Amino acid sequence: MRPLVAHIDLDALRHNYRLACACAPQSQSVAVIKADAYGHGAVACAQALESKALESQVPAFAVACLEEAMVLRDAGIQTPIVLLEGIFSADELPYVDKHRLWMAIHSGWQLDALQAFTPSAPIPVWLKVDSGMHRLGFAPEQAVSVWRTLEAMPEVSALHLMSHFATADAMDTGYFSQQMATLKALAAELDAPLCLANSPATLARPEAHGAWNRPGVMLYGSDPLEAPTKFTRQLQPVMTLRSEIIALREVDVGEPVGYGGRWRAARRSRIAVIAAGYGDGYDRHAVDGTPVLVNGKRAALAGKVSMDMLTVDVTDIPSAAIGSEVVLWGKSHNGEVLSIDEVARHCDTISYTLLTGVLPRVPRHYA
Ligand code: PLP
Repeated sequence: MRPLVAHIDLDALRHNYRLACACAPQSQSVAVIKADAYGHGAVACAQALESKALESQVPAFAVACLEEAMVLRDAGIQTPIVLLEGIFSADELPYVDKHRLWMAIHSGWQLDALQAFTPSAPIPVWLKVDSGMHRLGFAPEQAVSVWRTLEAMPEVSALHLMSHFATADAMDTGYFSQQMATLKALAAELDAPLCLANSPATLARPEAHGAWNRPGVMLYGSDPLEAPTKFTRQLQPVMTLRSEIIALREVDVGEPVGYGGRWRAARRSRIAVIAAGYGDGYDRHAVDGTPVLVNGKRAALAGKVSMDMLTVDVTDIPSAAIGSEVVLWGKSHNGEVLSIDEVARHCDTISYTLLTGVLPRVPRHYA
């Protein structure tokens, strides 16, 4: 077997979920498990969060679309599931009804489709308002009349007002406060229960905590905030991307390593070749110096990432040998942690893209 595995620590997932609940004790925390639970495997994560190992019951899961919800239902997941983007065509409504799904409504055509449909039981609906993200949702002025329409519809139950923040993670809270002001005014006018907070708002913006919150990336152990807090320090990595050294060589001063010869040895160096590359989802934009853990010790990427391999300078790690453990992010066998957020910064990206980018050829092992 090629030595590359994504280990998924389901206890860590449950720990992070408990933390999301502890950050917002007055709110119900929906677990966002869209995009195959951010690359961790939605069925396994949903089962772990439905299991008795978690004392409190997860009130709902959130996914992007019907297909993702059906995968969960087919696997026997019983918890309510909300479709964050609602339906993509009116043909989906019978499935929403059959699988007892909840749905967001962000556009007039979705409202029309729901009005023309007779479900077997009323469908819980989250009305999505564009409070400043300018992506999906009704403008606040429209939202009042749409809310009144939905309120009067027998096809609809458990109506909530939902919105998404553009800058909840930023130190500068100006735009976040602007969105909050819009939402507070609307909620007061409609007397509406709210569902607003993503991970950064769950962790650091208590004023955004509503009847429901929607934490996503924090459940997987990534810190979405610009500055750490007492809560983010308690997050535990759920995915460990673990490989091994498959070859070692010495290179002389001035010798290049890898495609384009981007990295050159400033001293006589020991280079380890690791069985992971961009063909597995490891980001090709990783710069020289991107950290990895070799036998639990930090080492630095040396040279461009190839499709199936990457190269690391292990000159300062005498224990490095063929078969040594290499952690690309997550937790080493000796307990050392390499945060995915740190790796993402070296790739000029965010943890979300690294996690969702781990490709199917990397087996997921659950523990
Ligand atoms: N709610 C919506 C509508 C989203 O699109 C997302 C993620 O993209 C989330 C909640 C969860 O966000 P995060 O992963 O930042 O917690």
